[in-house]
Amino acid sequence: MRLTDQEFNRVLVLKKLRASEPVARTDLVGLTGLTGGTITAITADLVRRGIVIEEKVATSGPGRPRVNLRINPQGRYVVGTTPTNEGELLTEIVNLRGESLGFAKAALTRDTTIEGLARQFITALEQALAEWDVPREEIYRIGIGIPGIVNNRTGIVEHIISLDSGPVDFGGIVGEALGVATLIDNSTNLLARAEHWYGAAAHADDFTLINIDLGIGAALYRGGQLVTGVHGMAAEFGHTKVVPDTGRACYCGGIGCLQAYCSVQSIMEQSCAQLGRPLPDFDRMNAAFDGLMAEQAAGRIDIGPILEQASHYLGVSVANHITMQDPEAVVILGPKFTMIEELRSIFFDALERNTFPALRRRTRLHFKLGDKGAYARGAAAMVLEQIYRCS
Ligand SMILES: [Zn+2]
Repeated sequence: MRLTDQEFNRVLVLKKLRASEPVARTDLVGLTGLTGGTITAITADLVRRGIVIEEKVATSGPGRPRVNLRINPQGRYVVGTTPTNEGELLTEIVNLRGESLGFAKAALTRDTTIEGLARQFITALEQALAEWDVPREEIYRIGIGIPGIVNNRTGIVEHIISLDSGPVDFGGIVGEALGVATLIDNSTNLLARAEHWYGAAAHADDFTLINIDLGIGAALYRGGQLVTGVHGMAAEFGHTKVVPDTGRACYCGGIGCLQAYCSVQSIMEQSCAQLGRPLPDFDRMNAAFDGLMAEQAAGRIDIGPILEQASHYLGVSVANHITMQDPEAVVILGPKFTMIEELRSIFFDALERNTFPALRRRTRLHFKLGDKGAYARGAAAMVLEQIYRCS
């Protein structure tokens, strides 16, 4: 979703306000690089719409009192919701400042269809909204994160790894049942939004986020905007090829995808095959993976070569990405294996050797452990962006 210049300026003003409030209009000129006239027009509109409030500050000298601006914490509310791989639905309600007002966790029963999952969302959201006692009309939008292939323009879910194939009008079904409009996006895009709005990379405008979980996803921020393809799809970094034609089969139907070597699911598949163990159920996969890593650390099993191969191919893929995109930073969210020093050095070795020489060692790399709460925060941030950009 490209923003127009006007929308971009409005979001920029609100981002700077959020980071530095209370601020005077004159200070916003320096913070945003926009002209005084543009700041006056944008802030007048935001005050009129109740998104920003004015605060008069007494001054000792002569002249008009100084007026500070703040984001209005009251008024509209935003809900963000997203399922975890462990079969829970996490939901958070925030105000216009992005401050959390409530958090709910509901158990989802295993479903076989995307539509069935949408029905479960409805029940869990009804419950959370009743608990928070917030009138529906005060909720601007519900932001939904889906761990699958999603069209964020139409609200249609095309594919979720463990469920029957779509397409299903997920956003439409949930929105109609609850009487609140929805926005929907791929979970990884929401993690990037959480990183952009709340994370350590807060307000970083140019970075790529790679999320290693059961699957692998990536999202791109460029010039302060989340970039999605012209067809409304997110970047499918996990399905770029590392062993084309002759590699492992991937669930997407392709051969030799990064996902088939480096995702938690593929490492579990390879390890269980090597150890002669049954593959755990989808909702127990992350916990079983942690158990396997503990056995590996204690020297009871040896899945070292599988982990080394995963780290090597991740390095190759990130190198290709840097060569094509030249991002300022790459943030890699992952399970604990990405934190192991020996594997990290295999990653960096592959990165170094495969990046275009002129671009080597220029991109900042951040490794972070995944945080489940970031999904709901990112879903809420998606809606805040929508409010901030609209005139
Ligand atoms: Zn694939």
